[in-house]
Amino acid sequence: MKKHLLFLGPPGAGKGTQAALLSEATSYLHLSTGELLRKEIDLDTYLGKQVKDIMNKGELVSDELVLEIVKKILAKDNNGWILDGYPRNLSQVNSLNEVLRNINQPLEIVFYLDIPDEVLIKRLLMRGRKDDNEETIKTRLKIYKQTTEPLIEHYKNLSLLEYINADGDFKTISTDIKQKMA
Ligand code: ADP
Repeated sequence: MKKHLLFLGPPGAGKGTQAALLSEATSYLHLSTGELLRKEIDLDTYLGKQVKDIMNKGELVSDELVLEIVKKILAKDNNGWILDGYPRNLSQVNSLNEVLRNINQPLEIVFYLDIPDEVLIKRLLMRGRKDDNEETIKTRLKIYKQTTEPLIEHYKNLSLLEYINADGDFKTISTDIKQKMA
């Protein structure tokens, strides 16, 4: 069973839902940079104040900032992990590699959750999070296509990529993911 996983895909693909389900089933740590940043905003911390406007606009917060968060969490002892929302660009891929080299825990599998644009726009509008309005969704999708989508090719070349059709009900998708992990 693979223990060091990554979920890749556009906003609204269901990365958070699937990562949470898998984390419950396996007890692997679910590391969602988006969730952690939102928590900082809710608690109105120094970090939260720094990222609030950027996140509400749908833009990416700085690589340095997210790296600090990821480093702190992955350094702790844990029984496997699931990365969700990180890395989001090639520079974050390189930083992650270095972190993983240091802790001697190589990434074993990358699930690419694929879903048509129309479906995810509908899903996001229904979800109604603070950054889920039409304007922000447009920005997030544009950034996804420009900076995150190239990661698919990158991990494919490393033979780490597993394709998941994410346009379906969450149980079917979850079963598919578990089968591919074994
Ligand atoms: P979604 O995948 O639906 O966009 P997330 O919770 O993953 O939702 O991310 C929400 C927001 O958090 C992003 O739009 C971005 O502003 C910020 N964020 C999350 N992860 C990162 C990251 N790795 N690098 C930079 N910004 C991030």
